[in-house]
Order: sequence, then structure tokens, then C-alpha cells
Amino acid sequence: MIIELPSEAKHIIDTLGESGYEAFAVGGCVRDSLIGKPPKDWDVCTPALPEQTKKCFAGQRIVETGLKHGTVTLVLNQKPFEITTYRIDGDYSDNRRPDKVEFVKSLKEDLSRRDFTINAMAYSPKSGMVDFFGGEEDLKHGVIRCVGDAGKRFSEDALRIMRALRFAAVLGFSIETGTAEAMRESRGLLKNISVERIAAELSKLVTGAGAGRIMTEHMPVIAEIIPELAPAIGFEQNSPFHCYDVLTHIMKSVDSAPSDLHLRLTMLFHDIGKPARYSERDGTGHFYGHPQLSTDMAKGILTRLKYDNNTIDAVTQLILYHDADILPKKKHIKRWLNRIGEERLRQLIEVKRADAAAQSERYYEGKTAILDAALQAMDEIIGQRECFALKDLAVNGRDLIEAGVPEGRLIGATLNRLMDMVIDEEAPNDRAVLLEIARGLN
Ligand code: ATP
Ligand code: MG
Repeated sequence: MIIELPSEAKHIIDTLGESGYEAFAVGGCVRDSLIGKPPKDWDVCTPALPEQTKKCFAGQRIVETGLKHGTVTLVLNQKPFEITTYRIDGDYSDNRRPDKVEFVKSLKEDLSRRDFTINAMAYSPKSGMVDFFGGEEDLKHGVIRCVGDAGKRFSEDALRIMRALRFAAVLGFSIETGTAEAMRESRGLLKNISVERIAAELSKLVTGAGAGRIMTEHMPVIAEIIPELAPAIGFEQNSPFHCYDVLTHIMKSVDSAPSDLHLRLTMLFHDIGKPARYSERDGTGHFYGHPQLSTDMAKGILTRLKYDNNTIDAVTQLILYHDADILPKKKHIKRWLNRIGEERLRQLIEVKRADAAAQSERYYEGKTAILDAALQAMDEIIGQRECFALKDLAVNGRDLIEAGVPEGRLIGATLNRLMDMVIDEEAPNDRAVLLEIARGLN
């Protein structure tokens, strides 16, 4: 197997080689190259110590990014390349960060400290593929497997539990039984990992193609970081609209949504309040008020996981409205546009589509047809620049004051009234007409 290295990585490996140091592309870039996915970045490993590496690239832009961990970053063609000395990790007293690292001489030792077999391969043009742990085979069969004893590897660093889920979801892989078992047993150690690092992995995980599938299969691990999901497991809905229990519905809706962080997080939490809002009438299940409760719970979870406000705002708004009707009538769509704006309405339509795809099949076509028509109505409104927001109204506050409307609260109320009339097509968006109406109103 030959890997096409970018010229910069080749230059780094050659330059180190000229000084007598072997060097390899390693980790994610080798994995991604083998599956035909363009690597995000190219990491190089070498027995040269950071000081020696720096000497090899004297006069070039080199940044001491993680000297303690043996990493220097060389900038070539404005792109960063990490060069890391072969190392093994010292003791992990906190299941989190090695207390210290130790530089070593052999590539095999360095590869043995890496998390999964598919991440523990190295490549150089001279030596070809170096694969001591069967990474290529696991890659071929779509398997995530720890290097060495899984239980020990997770107790060294519990973040690897989340990384296993993430790689499985993103690559569409399954997790080898022994590794999966160890993840389950070690899941309690996740409490030692910072929420920021957990959330970073969760974000990659939920946007993966197999996110819902993997989270369903590893629910005890997911419930460790989001215990609020546990009541949904196996919770029957007893509704003609639903063919799945709440958790299955949630996870299928995740996989049905486009691979976008806000949309996927919305689906993950949109029905999280259902179990607590269950009621039954004539044998049929209802969940009155669940969108509001799900919204509140999602806000709590996302805040705890330290997501940014932009994400929290988008996700909670989408959850709040996920069950509301979006009808393909222009007036109605303009109201939506006025309330949440174009971008959010487009997202909401995707959310409703994913929700419908995870319910009883018999209503799916009807529901998506309505959403398609709503989208078309929205495109028309936007395309024809029809007015649905105050900023596009033909009059503003100053105009009203000049027309004699008393300053103060009345201005806002009048503007909103005019806005309503324009949306409802009771008045044209025309300055003279609207000023005339405003005078009459006050
Ligand atoms: P990505 O595409 O997300 O960058 P990656 O495999 O390059 O994937 P990184 O987090 O950039 O992942 O790490 C680079 C390499 O370092 C990994 O391929 C793996 O060999 C090793 N590694 C990273 N994190 C750990 C960890 N927590 N435990 C053991 N090895 C790790
Ligand atoms: Mg990487």
C-alpha cells in the first residue's frame, strides 16, 4: 500500500532522514489515507528529540507547541505540521492526563501507547506501512479495537471511551466486543474528564453518519454523560403516530437529520421531556407540554456541557417549536419568518422532516409534502422580497413621530400593528398608505 504524502510531509521526513533520524507519518492521516478520506492534518513522529528536530529545521518557522510532550510544530506553506518525539505515557493518576511522558527510541513503543489499532499505524516512503497491531485489517472490517488491554487503556484515559464512540459513528464502524465491554465497565471514569473535552467528542459523535445507531448500542455510556436520556429507554408511546419507543424514535431522528451540529443536537434532545409528560386517554398516549419541558432540559444539559450560547439558543428554539405546525400558506410562513427568521425556519423544516422520518411510515409522505410546500412558499416570499420583518416595513418609528404619533410605547405597538396588517395582506407595504393607517389608529 502506497500513501501519497503531501510535499511538506515528504520534505519533513526527508530532512529528518538526512540527519540520520527515521520519521513517519502517523495516526489519523494514515488511517484516513487508507480509507480514501483526505486527512485533516499530517502528523510526523521521529526518535529525534525536540531540540534535535529544531536543529534540523533551523531558520524555518518552528513553534514549540508542546515541548513537554515532545511536540514541535513546523509551519510550511502556511500549514502547521506537528513533529512529535517517540514517547510513552507515564502514570495516569487521574484517568485524564499522563503525569509525565517518557521519550523512547522505538516506533513500536510509540505506536503501542496510541488508543485504537486504526490510529496506531505509521507510514514512510522508505519503510512503507508499519502496522504492529492489525490496524489495516480492522480498518478493512470496520472495527474499533483498543491497542492492548482495553480495560487498562480506558482506565489510563477515560476520554478514549468517547473517542471510540466518536470514531465508530464518524466512520460507520462497530466496536469490538472486548473493547465495548471495557467501555461499559469503565464508563464511571468519564466523571474525571473535563466537560469541554467530552463535549468536543460528543459534537463529532452526533454529526457522524452512524450516530443514532452507535448511541443506541452504547446507551449506558451515553447515559453516563446525559442521564436525562435514560427514562426514554424502552418508553412506549402507545400512539398511532409512533411505531417506536421514545429512545428509538430519538435515535432514528438523529440519523435522519442532516449532519449539522445544531440539527443533530436538536434531534437528540427534542423528545427528552416526553417520559415525564406522558398521559393516557382511552388507551392512547399523549405528551402534552413536552416541547417546553424538552427545551428546558436541553438548556440544562447544554449549559452543563458548556456549549456556546449560539448553539444553546439555536437548539432550544428548534426544540421549542419542533411540534408546531408549519403550513404552506404565505401569511402563515411570513409569521414564522417574522418570529424566527429565515435561517432558523429552514432549520426547523429539516427538524420536522427528521422527526417525521422516525415516526409511523403511514404519515410520512403527507407530512413531508406539507413541508416541501412550506419551503416553496418560503422561497417565493424570499425571492420576491416580500415584507415579513420590521426592518423591511415601508415606515419606521421616526416616520410615525413625524406623522404625529406620540413618542413612546405607542410607536412600537403601532409598528407591530402595521406589520401584522402587511403580513395578513390587509395593507400594502407602502409608505403613504401605512402612514395614513397609522394616523387613523392613534
Ligand atoms: P482527527 O481526524 O480527529 O484529528 P486523529 O486520529 O488525528 O483524528 P487526534 O486527536 O488528532 O486524532 O490524535 C492524533 C493521534 O494521537 C491519534 O490518531 C492517536 O494515535 C493518538 N491519540 C490521540 N488521542 C489519544 C488518546 N486519548 N489516547 C491515546 N492515543 C491518542
Ligand atoms: Mg488529528
